[in-house]
Amino acid sequence: MNRRDFIRTSSILSLPVILKSCGWDNRPVAYPVHVHSDADTGHLIYKSEQFDRIPGGSVDTMIVGGGIAGLTAACKLKDRNFLLCELSSDLGGTSSAWYSDKLSFAQGAHYDMAYPDTYGQEVLEFLESLNIIRHQPWKAAWGFTDEQHLVMHRRKNQCYDHGEIRKEVLPRGTLRDDFFSLIESYRGEMHLPTRLIDEKLRPLDKLSFIDFLKSRLNLTNDFVAGLSYHMKDDYGADAHTVSALAGIHYFICRPYNREVVELFSPPEGNHYFIQKMANYVGGERLMTNHLVKHISEVSDGFHVEVIDVTDQVIRTIKTRKIIYAGQKHALKYIFPQDQHLFQANQYAPWMVVNLVLDRTPEYPGYWQNEMLVEDGTFLGFIDSTTQHMASQEHWVLTAYYCLPPSSRNDLVHVEDNKMKIAEATAQYISNYFGEDISPAIQQVHIKVMGHAMPIPGRDYLFDDKNQYRGNKNIVYAGVDNSRLPLLFEAMDSGILAAGLV
Ligand SMILES: Cc1cc2nc3c(=O)[nH]c(=O)nc-3n(C[C@H](O)[C@H](O)[C@H](O)COP(=O)(O)OP(=O)(O)OC[C@H]3O[C@@H](n4cnc5c(N)ncnc54)[C@H](O)[C@@H]3O)c2cc1C
Repeated sequence: MNRRDFIRTSSILSLPVILKSCGWDNRPVAYPVHVHSDADTGHLIYKSEQFDRIPGGSVDTMIVGGGIAGLTAACKLKDRNFLLCELSSDLGGTSSAWYSDKLSFAQGAHYDMAYPDTYGQEVLEFLESLNIIRHQPWKAAWGFTDEQHLVMHRRKNQCYDHGEIRKEVLPRGTLRDDFFSLIESYRGEMHLPTRLIDEKLRPLDKLSFIDFLKSRLNLTNDFVAGLSYHMKDDYGADAHTVSALAGIHYFICRPYNREVVELFSPPEGNHYFIQKMANYVGGERLMTNHLVKHISEVSDGFHVEVIDVTDQVIRTIKTRKIIYAGQKHALKYIFPQDQHLFQANQYAPWMVVNLVLDRTPEYPGYWQNEMLVEDGTFLGFIDSTTQHMASQEHWVLTAYYCLPPSSRNDLVHVEDNKMKIAEATAQYISNYFGEDISPAIQQVHIKVMGHAMPIPGRDYLFDDKNQYRGNKNIVYAGVDNSRLPLLFEAMDSGILAAGLV
């Protein structure tokens, strides 16, 4: 079949609608569909009362959570007596990946871009010490050492807008030109980590991106839809919800409009960074399948109840200090004293669907395939043929869905509807290629993340909760402590937390 001869006209059920169903129409598909979720493990927090309790020894510092922030803190405390507990069977959190002998693919965060010289020195020096980046004085920037994972600029992205293909998401025209002139006035001021942004710009965190733009430009519905697509893609919510600071930051934090910025995307996505950090620290103090259930204050530190998920026992570990790098919504069970600090946090649920095909395409693909379709929760997909793959035998298409917080409870229905979800995803991608890809699908993996991304709405940034914590020996790290949901912010939070304990 020729490309573009295939157009599936029947409407595709949106993910929120599919998730409302209890599986009444979940007809089998011709390939296995695997669901990966840590929800059952997380629920052991309140479903483990009958587990045996045993003593678990003592450490100087306990790190809760093995995502980017927790592992960064672990690297910084390498020479100290610490233990990191991660509830999942693998490290990585929202930067996780799936591996087999011949294949690896991202199940969460999938890229980062070269860093200007003006970014935070702490993270730059840290990444350099791990040999991940090196300085490029001729560009006043830091680039990536493993150059094979740089994505070719001309195959970087393409946008599918309800059947039409164009280069960028934001429609071309005067409005787009005016928008970028406006954004241009913030060049050089939108740093990472965001704590480095000058005080004078901080009022931009107090109004929404759309309210900021509305008073300066004549916005059209198409343009707002494009902006909202971009905001969801990086921040988990639309342009009405995220702050003006977050929105401006997205478009100008790196010199995209003036020069080519290196785009780094290994097939395993940002799990690349997790592996580098885990190798640096060494495995024995990084305990996966260990869920922190409860923290109690005692005279000289804390008693931490940790569920060994494999053995189904609760170990009580004595520690002097804690770095809490897990998502903060669970504090209400784990350390209720500080729950109020984070109660304004809103989290976007995400779902990542990896389609593994038994062939590679005849035509060159684009790395990011942005898709504007009826179901605004579907954001498009990454095409593995633009990445440096260990094997040329497979083609992996990694699709992303960003859901509204109101859909979170419906995620319990993913397993019941997994065939339908795989089918709908394949159908969107078939429409994009103009070719039915279903016969080539070998396996599908669905990764479900209920509290995946803190939404940087109004008044979210510049309010590090470590300033107000009740006990100075517990320190908070992670992007959901007043940070933009980005790798660089997560790392900076881990470095700062390690400095505070
Ligand atoms: C789908 C998706 C794509 C993304 N893409 C990008 C990208 O391309 N580039 C980018 O810069 N950023 C991206 N992000 C943002 C990404 O979230 C951050 O960059 C970064 O990975 C966040 O790291 P973190 O350590 O703050 O949090 P998390 O990754 O959320 O890590 C928290 C960890 O704590 C563990 N945990 C929680 N509670 C407990 C407990 N009680 N006991 C034990 N363990 C616990 C969790 O299992 C988890 O592993 C993406 C996010 C999502 C959801």
